[in-house]
Amino acid sequence: RSAVLPPSVTFSHSIQPLLPVTGAELAVPLVTGDTRRYVNLDYAASAPCLQGVADHVAEILPYYASVHRGAGFASQVSTRLVEGARTTVKRFLGARDDDVVIFTRNTTDSLNLLAGCLPPDGDVVVLDIEHHADLLPWPEDRRRTVSAAPTLDATLRRVEHELARRPAALLAVTGASNVTGEQLPVGQLARIAHRHGARISVDAAQLAPHRRIDLIAAEIDYLAFSGHKLYAPWGAGVLVGRRDWLDAGTPYLAGGGAVRQVTLDHTAWAPAPARHEAGSPNVIGIAALAKACDVIASLPDGALETHESALRDRLKQGLGALPGVELHRIWPDSSSAVGIVCFSVVGFHPGFVAAYLSAEHGIGVRDGKFCAHPLAGRFGQPAGALRASVGLGTSSADVDRLLAALQELVQHGV
Ligand code: PLP
Repeated sequence: RSAVLPPSVTFSHSIQPLLPVTGAELAVPLVTGDTRRYVNLDYAASAPCLQGVADHVAEILPYYASVHRGAGFASQVSTRLVEGARTTVKRFLGARDDDVVIFTRNTTDSLNLLAGCLPPDGDVVVLDIEHHADLLPWPEDRRRTVSAAPTLDATLRRVEHELARRPAALLAVTGASNVTGEQLPVGQLARIAHRHGARISVDAAQLAPHRRIDLIAAEIDYLAFSGHKLYAPWGAGVLVGRRDWLDAGTPYLAGGGAVRQVTLDHTAWAPAPARHEAGSPNVIGIAALAKACDVIASLPDGALETHESALRDRLKQGLGALPGVELHRIWPDSSSAVGIVCFSVVGFHPGFVAAYLSAEHGIGVRDGKFCAHPLAGRFGQPAGALRASVGLGTSSADVDRLLAALQELVQHGV
């Protein structure tokens, strides 16, 4: 079979990475015995570390010491890194002065923590397009699911109708779908929630790495995201939001650091954030997450959006021109999306396509149901679909490698 086929669609321009990331030149083995530069089109799962973040981690590692309780110089530095990170995160999210920043392991952890702080008896309204991390933590007997309508506008009306029909404590929504990349109008949803006496929480695992967020302007009450999707290493996440629920909730972890006073028969718990952060924190992860926030915030206005939408358009155009490739989306009328494209190759199991891309072309994509089974089920395939996702370190050459590999598959099979 011919290795080089005429491209199904040609592009007149190239797109360079917006920021350097680690592993950009990684060479991986192929089944043929050759090696090729690895093409990472799976940013939505875990984004590679920004070079600036990796350098920062190397700089702070020598100050490896206990936080909060240590008096030594290195302990003071580590403590300042963790406490300073709260201010950085608040600035990054445009948070209110009195918002609390709690450091967790990831978005899943943050939303579970918030679920433990819900007012007693308050219901939670969710959409059926959520990642499992924004579905399963909410108590089943208090979770009311709204099914996404065929258009975004109609979906918003359904949400409003559900909140008007019966009061709820919280509307829990994603900022951007991890399956299709489509954004939800979180500001509009916040106003709907507030009109009906509910608060709003935003699962920003996919939104925070791709779009500027302003909690005050959008009137968002709670927001969660993960460091490893925001170009920092794994293991640190954030829950930010209004103090009252977080101060009243059962401590998420019991142990040292979360208390004001302990006797053998009484524990006086500290207020948030300490209340929920017992045990030694992930100093490196937290400092890296904060550095990533700063690096991303320092990009010129609009640069991130322009870079990603150019790559996403190229992906969509290229995939759309391939025979037998179907693109999936939730709503035909949603205009904004982050750098994620969901698709299927007719006649091929998604797991097979992903394995082929990796083994024969050194390209990493995601396949399956993306921890969003109810949404993936809408696309009508039991095995799910494929997802390509881009970010700050992606170039048009990466996208073109995927398009060429898929073209080879659909034209010649394997
Ligand atoms: N929410 C969304 C929208 C996600 O995409 C993910 C991860 O894929 C999560 C939540 C869970 O993130 P984590 O695994 O970092 O907890």
